[in-house]
Amino acid sequence: MISLLVEFLRKRGRRYLLYLGVAVPAAMCHNLLHEAVHYIGAIVFGEGVTAFRFLTNGWGTSQVVFSMPVEQRVGGHWLVVAWAPSIVTTLLGYGLYAARSVAGRHPVSRYAWLYAGFFFLLLDPFYMSLLSLAVGGDVEAAAAVGLPVWPVQAVAAAVLLFNVRLFTRWQKEVQEARVGTEEMQPGAHGGG
Ligand SMILES: [Zn+2]
Repeated sequence: MISLLVEFLRKRGRRYLLYLGVAVPAAMCHNLLHEAVHYIGAIVFGEGVTAFRFLTNGWGTSQVVFSMPVEQRVGGHWLVVAWAPSIVTTLLGYGLYAARSVAGRHPVSRYAWLYAGFFFLLLDPFYMSLLSLAVGGDVEAAAAVGLPVWPVQAVAAAVLLFNVRLFTRWQKEVQEARVGTEEMQPGAHGGG
């Protein structure tokens, strides 16, 4: 029993640690970029920022706190300040997908690229659609121009669906490439 566990950890543990080692930095890059775009947007439009909380907003979340209270925000520039981060990160996700061959043949770089793609393609569309039903957040900027929130959530949901399909296809590619690499190695055995 113990030896089975040791064997499992030896085989799988290193791989999971490796994945964790690339997934966490990818998630943090995504988060930092998202908040940075909020911050830059506020500066560009001359809106005051009272705090830049990186991972310190509770539950490991981040937030740029603007001087103007939510209910007093009026004007189309608030849409840019609120939504540009999600647009920028998602476009970068498409960029990662389009350039996925850059990751090359090595499994670590391929998985690192894939994990970055996971966060950049899916996180903000998920946040702006399903998660916003529970927590609100950036979608609420629609009120600054007197619009309801649901059209934004609907568009984000469509983007999320599309991106899930894209990511699933990509994941399959990476898995098939891994199987292909293992089969090419002499003495390789299907280690999972
Ligand atoms: Zn945001």
